[in-house]
Amino acid sequence: MASLQPVRGTQDLLPDAQRRHRAVIDTARDLAARYGYQEIATPIFEFTDVFSRPIGETSDIVSKEMYTFTDRGGEEITLRPEYTAGIVRAIMSNGLTQSLPQKLFGAGPMFRYERPQKGRFRQFHQIDVELIGVAQPLGDVEIISLAANILDAFGILKRTVLELNTLGDTASRVAYRAALVEYYAGHRDGLSEDSLRRLEKNPLRILDSKDEGDKRINADAPLFEKYLTPEAQDFFGKVKSGLDTLGIAYQVNSRLVRGLDYYCHTAFEFVTTDLGAQGTVLAGGRYDGLMGVMGGPETPGVGWAAGIERLALLIDEPAPPPRPITLAPLGDKAEAIALGIAQSLRKAGFNIDLGFSGNLKRRMQRADKIKARAVVILGDNEIEKQIAAVRDLDTGEQVEVALGLLEERLKPFR
Ligand code: ATP
Ligand code: MG
Repeated sequence: MASLQPVRGTQDLLPDAQRRHRAVIDTARDLAARYGYQEIATPIFEFTDVFSRPIGETSDIVSKEMYTFTDRGGEEITLRPEYTAGIVRAIMSNGLTQSLPQKLFGAGPMFRYERPQKGRFRQFHQIDVELIGVAQPLGDVEIISLAANILDAFGILKRTVLELNTLGDTASRVAYRAALVEYYAGHRDGLSEDSLRRLEKNPLRILDSKDEGDKRINADAPLFEKYLTPEAQDFFGKVKSGLDTLGIAYQVNSRLVRGLDYYCHTAFEFVTTDLGAQGTVLAGGRYDGLMGVMGGPETPGVGWAAGIERLALLIDEPAPPPRPITLAPLGDKAEAIALGIAQSLRKAGFNIDLGFSGNLKRRMQRADKIKARAVVILGDNEIEKQIAAVRDLDTGEQVEVALGLLEERLKPFR
């Protein structure tokens, strides 16, 4: 017997919850369009390589969180854990490297095998913005400003802090990496097993560790600032002054690193204290190395993703759905006529909830429950006289309306 429960870490989005999700996506998509970002949709699953190559074997995502399987044809497949790699793959697959920059917006489900808790699921949803083919710091400023505008439209910008950091260019990272290796080598005894592995492959990731012992060691780790090349400093300076120009407040957090190998320069997160431990609502950064790592031409890119579930917890209640008009045909004859009436009213733009069964009392109860604005009652008597009884559910007032005038008389209830 199959279990009646959804799989752990997944959830049903019943209409009220789905309306909140939809509100997040629609607002974000509309604002993204104002910046010239067009919506893209890529497949929910890809060849495993698409993610494992660029994301890197030592990352949490690849080593522990991916839903990977071999399909019936023997292909190694992974349910996408994030959007960026799939979008970059799509740009290469479709020859769009010839028409850069690409400004793209996406929204959809992501899959990570994590320990479910508040704001953390195994199937969750993201909105995602990518600007590909722009190497200038103005690109970073643009996507951060789009993020801030979206959060502002949700009324939650004021409840978040923008944390900003730079991961520098390659030369900066090589120098910093050497300094980190030296520092952590002196603290091997205190490092978690994961971090000992990271020390071999990517010591920068230790800074991102959630292990308490690692965090204590991180407190005294060398700071990136000192190892930035003049070029990297200049880039970061331009991002900061762009944000200043726009009046977007930020806090530089030199511990903010991205877990992924291909990130460089700008890293940022919008963090709130309103969600407990799962406080990051939106995270992004520059990934100039990504397309090259994936086997394409070296192409700069910068982008971000935000968790829709976390945003949906924070936004105000979205507008309720439009109130329908209930059509209550009582009897066979009335039913046949009601079908046609429902059809023409819907064509005229009314939301019609056609009742299927029950006496008048039951139908009125249902109309109440679905918050109908009015009920159109069609009984044998009414049909005989070619009229309908129309009851305003807000005032309780009921009038008789000739069937030919129904559309006109229902207009106030639309
Ligand atoms: P965290 O540190 O919370 O695990 P992350 O660094 O893995 O986050 P990203 O890969 O940057 O997260 O994803 C961007 C955003 O997607 C996060 O800021 C968060 O809002 C959301 N997100 C990530 N993982 C989950 C999840 N398992 N459930 C719900 N939302 C998530
Ligand atoms: Mg994570």
